[in-house]
Amino acid sequence: MTGTLDPTTGQVGDDVLASLLADARAQRDVVVALRHALHRSPEIGLALPATQRLVLDALDGLGLEVTTGSGLTSVVGVLRGAHPGPAVLLRGDMDALPVAEESGEPFASENPGVMHACGHDLHTAGLVGAARLLAARRDRLAGSVVLMFQPGEEGDHGARLMIEEGVLDAAGDRVVAAYALHVMSSLLPTGVVMSRPGTILAAADTVHVTVHGRGGHGSMPHLAADPVPVAAEIVLALQAMVTRQFDVFDPVVVTVGHILGGTTDNVIAPTARLEATVRTFSEAAHAVVPERLTRVCEGVAAAHGLTATVDYERGYPVTVNTPDEVQRAARVVPALLGADAWHEAAQPLPGAEDFSYVLEQVPGVFVAVGATPVGEDPRTAAYNHSAHARFADDALVTGPAVLAALALDRLAQG
Ligand SMILES: [Zn+2]
Repeated sequence: MTGTLDPTTGQVGDDVLASLLADARAQRDVVVALRHALHRSPEIGLALPATQRLVLDALDGLGLEVTTGSGLTSVVGVLRGAHPGPAVLLRGDMDALPVAEESGEPFASENPGVMHACGHDLHTAGLVGAARLLAARRDRLAGSVVLMFQPGEEGDHGARLMIEEGVLDAAGDRVVAAYALHVMSSLLPTGVVMSRPGTILAAADTVHVTVHGRGGHGSMPHLAADPVPVAAEIVLALQAMVTRQFDVFDPVVVTVGHILGGTTDNVIAPTARLEATVRTFSEAAHAVVPERLTRVCEGVAAAHGLTATVDYERGYPVTVNTPDEVQRAARVVPALLGADAWHEAAQPLPGAEDFSYVLEQVPGVFVAVGATPVGEDPRTAAYNHSAHARFADDALVTGPAVLAALALDRLAQG
């Protein structure tokens, strides 16, 4: 290993990046083997005991200070450099999805109905890979790296729980920056890293609406209070709300994905129910959407003499990248992987992430890493969450190298 963490420029040197990539290539088989072991034994939610065991075993011998969560099966590793300096955080999520795998991979899930369909097995193995790269450079490291192995990203707010358990202060001082990546089984070619300044991912809320009427005979609706036409009007009124009450350049998406009312053709139901997902891309829109949506539902029901109750469930906040940290990625990624490897997206992605809770507290950047399988077209390959999704193991070279490079570059800044 050669190279310097350049103290004159405050940036990681090209020689360091070259050695980082070479080491990431050299350790590929170890990291891939861990990913395949994780893929075979996927677990869901906040309790991932088998996953946690694999991570603890993989970190053993790297000289980290390792702790585990109390309310969830998280793992936090602190790597202390040989020299004083600030702390940075790298995050990898570890949970799988309730999907019956049909990928055809030789290392497919051995837990029926559970699959690493979102690539979090690559995030977990990749964070171990980054830890190995950084541990090998401890002698010249000025500061600490907090490794955040997180359960419960898929809706269980695992990142928020880990923040409550102190992950941002695990090294002693509050981390000065945080970095995370997400692999993509399509859209991005393998080796391409994508992000953008500002909003990178949406906020995702869930709404349950109940329209309360009065049941009766289908032939005499005037003697009942029919919730079904009111529910139908609410579906359309919500679309009018989106286009009439929100800035077209700060978009809002409302999708009523579930509607339920009645039992048969000639009976008027007492209630009807709607369920919708609400996506917003700014905290300004996120803040006002519940009140406006509730007003529409209650107002449409009231217009017909019925009532509506709205149960608005906040999901993950908007994920917002710090512009300076995006600039760092835009400089470090091409220097590490080549000029074609960096792509700045014109728009955010409409998915949501609980890394948003980390970026609410500290500066940082969330990047997407292409993992489209070799020989497949990124435009048609199965997307994340699909039972057919496959992820290229080569992302286990680029991913760990990118995370380690971002950490080294931030620490070189002092
Ligand atoms: Zn995911």
